[in-house]
Amino acid sequence: STSTSTKKHLLKLVILGDSGVGKTSLMNRYHSQKFTGQYKATIGADFLSKQVSIADPHTGYVRHVTLQIWDTAGQERFQSLGVAFYRGADAVALVYDVGDGRSFDHLDNWRGEFLRQVGLDEEGADFPFVLIGNKIDRPDGERQVSRQRAERWCEDAGLGRRIGGGPIPHFETSAKTSDNVDAAFLELATLAVIHA
Ligand code: GDP
Ligand code: MG
Repeated sequence: STSTSTKKHLLKLVILGDSGVGKTSLMNRYHSQKFTGQYKATIGADFLSKQVSIADPHTGYVRHVTLQIWDTAGQERFQSLGVAFYRGADAVALVYDVGDGRSFDHLDNWRGEFLRQVGLDEEGADFPFVLIGNKIDRPDGERQVSRQRAERWCEDAGLGRRIGGGPIPHFETSAKTSDNVDAAFLELATLAVIHA
């Protein structure tokens, strides 16, 4: 497009993954630099907003955008999230817990469910995803998902789907220590800027 005024100012980011992987903690860490140790199923607000400046890698221009970061209200445990949750997403973070292999096994379901709900077909979609392996602060002995295994998944899932056909970007994070959280959200927001 030719004019910045035609570009979207509001970008919707959606965070998906099994219950307990740390989606709400990641969002809160990114949004307000806070981490609360106690478990609390998310209730209430559908999204948090954050204003950021993102350099558009295509044009070089810095874009001032408002990120709407959508988190589940804990419904991921019981039922599907409903189309309103997914609709209009500009980028999606898929989150697993590096110490929980099952949360990694479920990534395909989350990705497939998203693509189905927004009417994108599995093969053709170049929709921007970012993969986040959370809780890397866990002791080494608790790790169940290696970095290599996750990167292989990113290559398979990204094949022919992203612009340029590259793998889905992968980050290992800790919402507890804040390790890599900003980097993961920056990539997510940058992909949203490109895609929107
Ligand atoms: P959600 O169900 O995906 O939203 O997960 P929550 O954000 O509610 O987190 C589930 C539990 O994991 C809580 O007890 C969090 O304190 C904990 N948790 C979240 N992120 C991390 C992390 O990076 N490291 C550790 N050690 N615990 C985490
Ligand atoms: Mg939650």
